[in-house]
Amino acid sequence: MTRQPQLFETEPPPTPWEEAARSDQFTAEVVFNLPLETSYHYLVPPELRELIQPGQRVRVPFGRGDKLTTAYCVGVGYSAPTSRKLKQLQEVLDREPLLTPKMLRLTEWIANRYLCGWGQVLESVIPAGVKKQAGTREVTCYEPASGVCEQIAELKLPRKQRDILQLLCDANEALPVDQISDAIGCGTSPINSLRDKKLILPIRRRTSTVSHDFGDAKLQDDLTLNPEQQVVLTKIEGLLQKGEHGTLLLCGVTGSGKTEVYIQAIREVVSYGRQAIVLVPEISLTPQTIRRFRSRFPTVAVLHSHLSDAERHWHWQQIALGEVQVVVGARSAVFAPTPHLGLIVIDEEHETTFKQQTTPRYHAREVARERARQENIPLLLGSATPSLESLQRARDRNDIWLPLHNRVESRPLPPVHIVDVQHDPYISKGHSIGRALANQIKAATDDGGQVILFLNLRGYSTVLWCPKCQGIRCPDCDITLTWHRDRGLLLCHSCEYSQPPPEVCPTCSRPGMRYLGTGTQRLEAEVKQKFPKLRVLRMDSDSMRKPGSHDEALESFRAGEVDLLLGTQMIAKGLDFPNVTLVGVVDADTLLHQPDLRAAERTFQLIAQVAGRTGRGDLGGRVLVQTMSPDEPVIQFASRHDYLGFAKHELENREAAMAPPFQSLARIVVRGLDDEITQGETRRIASAFREAATKLGSDVRLLGPAPAPVAKLKKHFRYHFLLSAPQIEAIQEVWRSTSKNLKLEVGVEMQIDVDPLDMR
Ligand code: ADP
Ligand code: ZN
Repeated sequence: MTRQPQLFETEPPPTPWEEAARSDQFTAEVVFNLPLETSYHYLVPPELRELIQPGQRVRVPFGRGDKLTTAYCVGVGYSAPTSRKLKQLQEVLDREPLLTPKMLRLTEWIANRYLCGWGQVLESVIPAGVKKQAGTREVTCYEPASGVCEQIAELKLPRKQRDILQLLCDANEALPVDQISDAIGCGTSPINSLRDKKLILPIRRRTSTVSHDFGDAKLQDDLTLNPEQQVVLTKIEGLLQKGEHGTLLLCGVTGSGKTEVYIQAIREVVSYGRQAIVLVPEISLTPQTIRRFRSRFPTVAVLHSHLSDAERHWHWQQIALGEVQVVVGARSAVFAPTPHLGLIVIDEEHETTFKQQTTPRYHAREVARERARQENIPLLLGSATPSLESLQRARDRNDIWLPLHNRVESRPLPPVHIVDVQHDPYISKGHSIGRALANQIKAATDDGGQVILFLNLRGYSTVLWCPKCQGIRCPDCDITLTWHRDRGLLLCHSCEYSQPPPEVCPTCSRPGMRYLGTGTQRLEAEVKQKFPKLRVLRMDSDSMRKPGSHDEALESFRAGEVDLLLGTQMIAKGLDFPNVTLVGVVDADTLLHQPDLRAAERTFQLIAQVAGRTGRGDLGGRVLVQTMSPDEPVIQFASRHDYLGFAKHELENREAAMAPPFQSLARIVVRGLDDEITQGETRRIASAFREAATKLGSDVRLLGPAPAPVAKLKKHFRYHFLLSAPQIEAIQEVWRSTSKNLKLEVGVEMQIDVDPLDMR
């Protein structure tokens, strides 16, 4: 008999005597999609025992009114009878587990590590399309009853029925009704007659209603590695061959050929019949990146945010069946259900988008590290500017350091010039492009080169300013509104709020409001006005709203239809354009002066990444960085491409400040609609944590509480404090002993973010 293939192996059934011994206490352990740290046990009625498996969703009575609630089954078995009367499980929702026992274990780890509910993790990591089984439907199939095919000659049957039976006996799997009637040219009545005679048996089976593929890119040979790449690959292969877990940190300057190293490491993994997962920042999932993998491996699944539910479900199934050699995707691809994972690669591992900003607030790098540990395989991290967390692990020799010092084919890194714009005649007049940058743009484009300008602010003006009352703020958020001239509106970048610009200050009613600060839109206008002949393209989240517009824009830049590309983060990452001979960082200070403990690190990373966009071709290239603080150490290090120098300097600062990576942090945000109540509750919560730390004799320090840097967001007032300790376990212990006993005032919420990256 053929059934839909079982996606996942399951536990062996208990022996009959085990069953007899404890038959009245067959229970399921379930967790809910709620911030609960406990699981619950339910009795499983006999008729559901055959059906239920860990990893399925179930319906159980829950809470005061015994309301039927969906939960995830995380374990089944015979437990010793308890004195408490257990409630009964009502329904099993999925026919197959939605994830493997291994992945269940990983999600449990996430719940413990990031201090949220296990059910919340499951709800978040299983794609909606998988839960709905999108793109499939149940159909009735038929197969011959047992023994029928052997006696087919002796059966007296009308011709159509005989043909049908013969067809089913010849087929090596059950066939759906449509297929039978098409093949024989009959309606459903002869099929039904055979069924009524019990000669054929119906089975319900899911079939795909959509078809997808992995693309059919032409396969290309691997490149011959240069000696530096070869040394690194040999080390990675050594670990792969040993079949051990370990984390490798590949620190290679931009253009040093890291991707080629990943590809050849994956080649080794695939030769063992295993799969690899490659995580890249969402923004780098460009056709160019996808092509690089698809041109080397025949079955590459790409998991990106534009997949429909049906496509995602199909990919998920193919991955689970082992049909896919390489999975390329953003953060959540770390959960791809590969049956025999051999390697996880994280490119641009320093990127903050690997951290999820909603519950569960996991960091894909840490989840990957744990998954690799559990599955006993290597984790390969790559970056030109590794996060200081990763660097420190390599310095402590927990992780293996793999440097690539040179660009491929000995291309030099581009020179980076710091331009002090404090006294620049153009900048003083309110322009964004100073004299030196203007001259360089002209020179580069006169020589037929292309230019990239980077500015980290969207919109036209960053603020509408009243000399007396300062910037106009969003009424719902503690954030100044940004002027978007193309839409004629002041917009809040944190919520949906917008308003037309007022003629006079809304607070003091005086005229004379001024538009200050420059976003990408004003920069675009300035470039067009200064260089009317240049073909200019702006890339930011406002101009790239349409799906596909991002790829289109990059293609037209590549094709040389655009001379100057300007934009936000979007253009800083991973792009490889040989004809770019000038990169301008319009304002390095906007990044540097953020109130964020990682501001210097981000600034260094950004300048290095942006600089990496040039000098990739035979034309060479240069980088200009405009700044008002030319003596800042980070700017100086960046101008020398000195990552290790910067890292050493910054790690000393962090150690002195007792900041990560030397301390673990968790941030607790308390929010509510009433300012006074929220503030009072925050104080009460903070003292509860302080008391708990004292009582436990713990080394957790509490910093704060204070209003959050964004003190109001979407109508909610926000306060925060930090828990800090040498080890995360101490913070977890304090949280666990405190959080469950806290009863908050109605309307006040508390959230914890472990290893926070966003402190706003
Ligand atoms: P990185 O990821 O380190 O920025 P890439 O992997 O994008 O670098 O490599 C930069 C360019 O060099 C790519 O066009 C790539 O095809 C090419 N390249 C990489 N390794 C080699 C090699 N061994 N020989 C020739 N070209 C190479
Ligand atoms: Zn707002």
